[in-house]
Amino acid sequence: MSQFFYVTTPIFYVNAEPHIGHTYTSVVTDTIARYHRLAGEQTFYLTGTDEHGDKIAEAATANKMTPLEFADRISGIFRSTWDEVGFSYDRFIRTTERKHQRTVQDILQKVYDAGDIEFREYEGSYCVGCERFLTDRDLVNGLCRDHERAPELRREANYFFRLTKYRAWLVQHIQDNPDFIRPERYKNEVLGMLREDSGLDDLCISRPKERLHWGIPLPFDENYVCYVWFDALINYLTGIGYPDAPHFDDYWRTAEHMIGKDILKPHGVFWPMMLKAAGLEPYQHLNVHGFWNLADRKISKSLGNMISPLAMKQKYGFDAFRYFLLREMSFGLDAAFSEEALIARVNADLANNLGNLVNRTLNMVARYTDGKVPQPDTTGEPEDRVSDTAARVANAVDAQIRNLEVHRALASIFDLVNETNRYLETRAPWTVAKDPAREAELRTILYTACEALRVIALLLEPFLPATAPAILEDLGYPEALLHAQLPQDAMRWGQLPVGLKTKKGTPLFPRIEAAPDDSAEG
Ligand SMILES: [Zn+2]
Repeated sequence: MSQFFYVTTPIFYVNAEPHIGHTYTSVVTDTIARYHRLAGEQTFYLTGTDEHGDKIAEAATANKMTPLEFADRISGIFRSTWDEVGFSYDRFIRTTERKHQRTVQDILQKVYDAGDIEFREYEGSYCVGCERFLTDRDLVNGLCRDHERAPELRREANYFFRLTKYRAWLVQHIQDNPDFIRPERYKNEVLGMLREDSGLDDLCISRPKERLHWGIPLPFDENYVCYVWFDALINYLTGIGYPDAPHFDDYWRTAEHMIGKDILKPHGVFWPMMLKAAGLEPYQHLNVHGFWNLADRKISKSLGNMISPLAMKQKYGFDAFRYFLLREMSFGLDAAFSEEALIARVNADLANNLGNLVNRTLNMVARYTDGKVPQPDTTGEPEDRVSDTAARVANAVDAQIRNLEVHRALASIFDLVNETNRYLETRAPWTVAKDPAREAELRTILYTACEALRVIALLLEPFLPATAPAILEDLGYPEALLHAQLPQDAMRWGQLPVGLKTKKGTPLFPRIEAAPDDSAEG
């Protein structure tokens, strides 16, 4: 019986083009999805775009387009960008799909029939950026905390989802499942939002059609459309074929949502309550990451600090950018982005440590053993140290990925890279090669280095999906990835077949000399 794994990015709002925030969430999600596939799990990775709401209608008008034309354009940019950088998503969902519309209406009707949606009049401060009424806690000096703009006073009769009814249930669920929201700081934040004195209120889930046409009609009142969060969150059900697609339940049971901390409240508070009201189980985990900071400002879709994934790909290669994002941010905490820091990391870790290990190993195999993976002879303590490290690292990476410690997992893999480089320094095959009497020893050393490369490439595939196959290709063993099963295949030493024809590697990561737009300093 195969094991299922379901992982999602948020659906991205089509009011801006892809930037570093969207890219980071997607890079982590892609890495985790790839790992679970290599672990033999039946994996489904969902991404897509969120396309309804006033902001889209406004932006479309400003661009002299219909909302759907506008959404088509931006959604298309997201999709082609993700394709160009090689994300391995299984489905790209759009909230304007008819199928999604039906799912939303089905859930709305269920929740309405259960008595959890009420019609009421409401007046309050509304932020167009957030697309919701704000509470006092959302305001800083009278401005929306996230958007730095003044809210409008609005009075409307609307439909409300009775969140407050589920407050006690959700607090209990979080206490019973301590890693439901992780890392822990965000669990505590959500528990804070759920406190009696937090001002948590029932959630407005509609807009009168006279003010907003661009939304999914409520199934029980044709004069209203659905408010965006209710519409958006349900994509996670539509994406895997709610309610009756084969394996819907199998996937849903394992759901892992990856989000940035700016959308913690809808995912940590509204969503589990909506699921409960609709008679569904909550997701497995909500995994929350921090912000990338640039020049001390939050990089968000509203503030316009754009770092385009395609520009980064063109400048440095997408694996290098990916590596930096995954290595530099501790999942859950904020991190700082600068091209100087990226260049320093890529040069130190990828050009020097990894690139060097690959190049010198393959060059020596070409030179000393006729370009073929040699038959090893007797191994000793130095070889054991490399194979022991490989097994320990493979085991650690498995646990770290499942714990969302992706930066630690990468550091673990580089323990093996460093250990293998140290091994070559100690065993000095270039000296051994000078003595024909030590030919057997030379074969052992080069086999050990090649086998370490196989393990390194297997473990790196989820993180560097372009680089890892290139290493295996040069080793003459591209099929290693075909039926690989992690972590076992990385732990079992000696799987690299003897006699494979290797290639002299082209440098994987040439040293980057300086940021191309740096001013010369001397
Ligand atoms: Zn706002």
